[in-house]
Amino acid sequence: MLDFLFKPRSVAVMGASNNTFSIGNRVVKNLLDYGFKGQIYPINPKESEILGLKAYPSVLDVPKPVDIVCIAVKSTLVPQMVEDCGKQGVKFVIIHTAGFREMGGEGAKLEDALLENARKYGVRVYGPNSQGIMNSDPDVSVYANFTFTPLGRGKASILAQSGGVAEMINLNLRKMGSGFRIYASHGNASDVNTNNILDYLGDDAETHTIMMHIESMKDTPGFIERCRRIAKDKSILAIRTGRTAAAAKAVSSHTGSLMQQDSLTDAIFRRAGVLRFQTVEEMVAAGYAFANQPVPSGPNVGIIANAGGPGIIAIDECVGNGLSLAKFSEETKAKLRAGLYAETYVENPIDVAATATADHFALALSCLDEDPGVDSILLTMVTPFFVDCEAIARRIAETAPKLKKPIIAVVMTNENWVGTVQTIKNAGIPVYDYPEMASRVLAAMVRYGEIRKQLAEAPAQVKGNQARAREILAQCPGGFISQAAAFDILAAYGIPVARTLPVSSGAGIPVQIPYPAVLKVDSADVVHKSDAGGVKMNIADETALKAALADMARRFPGAKFVVQEQCATGTEVIMGFKCAEGVGPVLMFGLGGIYVEALNDVSFRLAPLSSPEAARMVRAIRAFPLLSGTRGRTPADVPAIERLLVAISQMAVDLPEILEMDLNPVFVYADGAKVVDIRIKK
Ligand code: ADP
Ligand code: MG
Repeated sequence: MLDFLFKPRSVAVMGASNNTFSIGNRVVKNLLDYGFKGQIYPINPKESEILGLKAYPSVLDVPKPVDIVCIAVKSTLVPQMVEDCGKQGVKFVIIHTAGFREMGGEGAKLEDALLENARKYGVRVYGPNSQGIMNSDPDVSVYANFTFTPLGRGKASILAQSGGVAEMINLNLRKMGSGFRIYASHGNASDVNTNNILDYLGDDAETHTIMMHIESMKDTPGFIERCRRIAKDKSILAIRTGRTAAAAKAVSSHTGSLMQQDSLTDAIFRRAGVLRFQTVEEMVAAGYAFANQPVPSGPNVGIIANAGGPGIIAIDECVGNGLSLAKFSEETKAKLRAGLYAETYVENPIDVAATATADHFALALSCLDEDPGVDSILLTMVTPFFVDCEAIARRIAETAPKLKKPIIAVVMTNENWVGTVQTIKNAGIPVYDYPEMASRVLAAMVRYGEIRKQLAEAPAQVKGNQARAREILAQCPGGFISQAAAFDILAAYGIPVARTLPVSSGAGIPVQIPYPAVLKVDSADVVHKSDAGGVKMNIADETALKAALADMARRFPGAKFVVQEQCATGTEVIMGFKCAEGVGPVLMFGLGGIYVEALNDVSFRLAPLSSPEAARMVRAIRAFPLLSGTRGRTPADVPAIERLLVAISQMAVDLPEILEMDLNPVFVYADGAKVVDIRIKK
């Protein structure tokens, strides 16, 4: 339980000093300046008073209870300081000092030493190499942190591994006019980690949105499980920087090599219900809106403008980002016509005209809020001299709390109307400078609404013969299993495969395979069969098969072979999964042939898939129009692909002994699909 960390009754500061240019001094000053409601105890053996507070020679002299001790002393002293904290019954140490595991070698040893001391006494460690925490809850008002952005109140909580990024988020949130709820920059996370803090923020009723910065992820399944729970009623926004070891690993199959770090992050966030941003700027802009406004229930936006051009830009950007322009009801239009200027255009966007009054704005807002065809409102306005902008802002602010739908605003103005803009912001309406950014923010909110709906989808259940598949797998040695076994495993899950049987020159030729047939080498050493001359197509009859077999047997001494029915050529797609270390099975889908290799046009998802998620996965590739039938091409059986995807998702879940599986290619026809090549690694 992190209550003592985020709602401390007292904070002691080791390394507190009267030297303004020291971290210890700044932490004490911040605690004082932002009105910490608990006790502050500077610790310094050489001082009797620091910033007007009584200083203590050691933590052992500080009156109990001591909930937090901020530590800003030399790294080599930290393990001993932690030991002292333990003796004094301290609940949490926030270690600001750097020079630990992030440095490797001696630093890592020091970190282990301090952790051991902490464990001995049950002290929880936050950091080391951490900037600290803040809580803007007026009952607490704690700034146990050495950074510089003032403590401002808001409904977004910030959770960032890097202090610099946490600061950047907070700083820019402040520039937009918002504060935060809880701020946690936890550095090395040697003990208190991202997932622990997420739990805490998830339970904090005043946190409406969580903005995260992630460098490296530990316990990914735990992260996903928590986020899925929290995302039901709070929004989680994140940026991810840096690379994982999982991605760097050289891999042998397509599924593996295509699974780049970035796509893996996308797949993890998607499964977790986390909305990913590529830039801090966009995340902050969106977080500001997420914290203050509800998530729209659909994509239809109603736009109100008092200047035409910016409204048009908003349309372009909204529609370009997947939103739709709401169609107003006749009732709405009649009300608008009656209340606005006679020449007003009452379609979407409503141009109330630059001379519009406060009444006009209020009417337009409430009409759109009432119209069932509108899911969100985008207000773009300029502040002309010839209208009472202050009165307009006040009416907007009065109307805002009554609105059921989310509203965001763009105000194009200058320093004359700072107060006017503030009036609008104070009503909880996020205000942006540009219509493009406001539209993108709205689009992000709509996307979150979709994410939330998707979280409720149940995984598709496919009944496969799991026992049979495991029995076959048990008989295979580790590494790539034989083609014959791989085809049997797929068949156990009812996956349509090209008929495939083992064949050898000694035994009789299997009669169940119709001609023309295909002969393939079946050997763990031959990963790319056709490249090695191990695929012979168009075998017309038994005589030709025997000849082909004799030829291949000579070229691949000791190898086994399979004979396969030759399938009509369909659109080639590939799919498969690979178990990513610490993450679990990651499913992949793409078009076969040059699309996969040259364009890297693939989609990734974590297992298990729901049926709608399988449908989205197929549609996520750029080349999807080639499957759905573009320019006279016969459409491929997309539902058959979706069924295959959920089947392999089920296999990924049911058969943990499979490390990698590659179906390459699968022929997709106008009606049905067939797998002609499988590679399974166990
Ligand atoms: P590899 O990928 O190991 O080279 P494949 O079994 O995928 O070997 O064969 C290579 C290509 O030959 C396939 O991509 C497909 O175009 C074609 N092919 C393989 N088997 C069949 C088959 N049974 N029917 C029709 N075409 C096939
Ligand atoms: Mg192949």
